[in-house]
Order: sequence, then structure tokens, then C-alpha cells
Amino acid sequence: MRNVIIIGSGPAGLTAALYAARANLAPLVIEGLESGGQLMLTTMVENFPGHRDGVMGPDLMTEMRAQAERFGAEIMSGDVTAIELGSQPFALRLGDQEEQTKSLIVATGASARLLGLASERTLMGHGVSTCATCDGYFFRDKPIVVIGGGDTALEEAIFLTKFASQVTVLHRRDQLRASKVMQDKAFANPKIAFEWDTELAEVKDVDLGVVTAAVLRNKKTGATKELPVEGVFIAIGHTPNTGLFKGQLDLDDNGYIVVGEGTRTNVPGVFACGDVQDHVYRQAITAAGTGCMAAIDAERYLEGLE
Ligand code: NDP
Repeated sequence: MRNVIIIGSGPAGLTAALYAARANLAPLVIEGLESGGQLMLTTMVENFPGHRDGVMGPDLMTEMRAQAERFGAEIMSGDVTAIELGSQPFALRLGDQEEQTKSLIVATGASARLLGLASERTLMGHGVSTCATCDGYFFRDKPIVVIGGGDTALEEAIFLTKFASQVTVLHRRDQLRASKVMQDKAFANPKIAFEWDTELAEVKDVDLGVVTAAVLRNKKTGATKELPVEGVFIAIGHTPNTGLFKGQLDLDDNGYIVVGEGTRTNVPGVFACGDVQDHVYRQAITAAGTGCMAAIDAERYLEGLE
């Protein structure tokens, strides 16, 4: 029987592990298939405090992991396949193995939706990004494209005009999904242009290992053209990794875990932190902050059980 199991090994999960380990709770972290979380897909991270010269995303995650392990966190690879939160202790199944725990911290994150192009994957972190707040700074005076027609795409496009020389929004339809107020702001911004009924056919140049152009395809005519850009921001939404918890934890309309009073979910003893409960900020530092909160909340919950 474990005191606390943490599912997920991004900044939220590993910070929860660090705090829980230092509180002598001997946490078990189940790291999931995408070990290290979204920072494993990035290159330079310049906005994580304490790293004056920046730090590579995967290096930051290696350090976080080692720091949690130093205090006794146990990290297990594998993916939770089923979970039972209806009674205490909670039961987790990983293939044919079962784990039981008095408290659970869910830090399974959210995955940025991608288009599915091979070039998009290869150039991720090398000009292709899913986070304007994180990477906008690298595109000073450079032309870029943003893919998507929702609020995130327009918010990112508007933010990116602070840096980029030109921002072209590619949208697959001729009408935006974004709210009217965001549309008005984007239309009024002289640095933003739109390509309607357009999809991204390919990102160049995989051979060079950097982004040099976006190949656009008009969905109505089939015509393609090449737009010279140095950055491609994919902003077609995120999917919270909450499939396991459907019917057991309260989720909002977009599938994110609903938390109240810190990191508490509707099930006493189950806490949620990081992007799985946050569709607004989505930063490594905010995820780490809520990871700390979840560990403290779990510790207090366990004290209450004694
Ligand atoms: P949305 O699901 O609202 O929008 C996703 C956009 O990406 C849509 O325009 C969609 O096109 C497009 N898209 C989806 N899949 C593909 C694909 N495979 N190829 C090309 N385009 C694709 O996600 P958001 O992240 O924008 O927003 C999520 C939620 O968060 C919304 O409720 C939004 O209002 C909210 N939000 C609010 C903000 C604010 O108020 N400041 C800021 C950011 C988000 P199509 O329109 O054709 O479906």
C-alpha cells in the first residue's frame, strides 16, 4: 500500500514527487508513455526561473527527475491501463500489475494537437512550436505562420506580432471559430495576414534541420504555394489526458479535470495538477507550482486519515 502515487512525469508530476518525497511519503511516480512531458519536445527554455542562460527542455526534465529521486521518489515506467477510485484504497492497474494507494496525484498533462505531418514532428523545437509564450522570443524580426482558427491561434498570433516581422494565420475554413473580440483584435493588427481555406501541406527544410518555408495548400482549388517563414506555430488545440478518469472525476466540457480548493478533485484523496487541470496558463513553471500544491494537499489529506 502506497501513501501517494503520482501519475505523470512532467514538471507537475516531478515537482509533486519532490515535495512528497521530502515529506517522507515515499511517492511512486508512474511516468507514462511520454516520460518527461511536453518539455521533452522543446529545445531551449528561457523562461524557467533560475536558468539565466536558458536550459534545454530535456535537460531540465532530467534534472527534475534526479532531484526527486535523490529524496527517495520511486519512478516506474509504464502506463496506467485502468483505475478504480470508487473506494479506499484506490487501485491502479498497469497491465497485469496492480498498485494500491491512499492518495493519488494526477499529473497526466495535455497533449498539443498536431497535424500529423512527418516534417512537423522532425522540426519540432527547431522552428516548429506549440507554444508562443515559450518560443516567440526566438522569432524576432522573422516571418512566421500560425495554424488554427480558434481563440488560441488568434491569441498566439497577436502575441507573436510583438516579435515576428509578419504573422500569417492559416485556417482550414473561411470562418474563424475564435470569439468576436479576438477576431476584431486580429483583423485590426497590421502585422497579421490570413490565408483562408488553407492547410499546411509540409514544413521545409527537413534536410537542413531548420524551418525555411511553409508549403500551403488551398483546400478549395488544390493549388499549393510556398511561403518563406522561419517559424511554424501549431495552435489547433490541446487534448487533456483524462480518458482514464471519465466517469470517476469531474471533467469540464473540454475534458479538463475540475479542481477546487487548491488541487482537490471531487474524489477526496485525489488531487490534480499541471496542464491536465489548466487550459489557460500551460507553462512549465505554473505546472510545477501546482505540483507543489498537490503534494502539500495530499500530505494534509494523509495526516487527516491518521
Ligand atoms: P479550438 O478547438 O477552439 O480551436 C481549434 C482550431 O484549430 C479550430 O479553428 C479548428 O478548425 C482548428 N483545427 C483543429 N484541428 C485541425 C486540423 N487537423 N487542421 C487544421 N486546423 C485544425 O481550440 P483552442 O485551443 O483555440 O481553444 C480551446 C478553448 O479554450 C476554447 O473554448 C477557447 O475559447 C478557449 N480559449 C480562450 C481564450 C481566451 O478567451 N483568451 C484563449 C485561448 C483559448 P475549425 O474551426 O475548422 O474546427
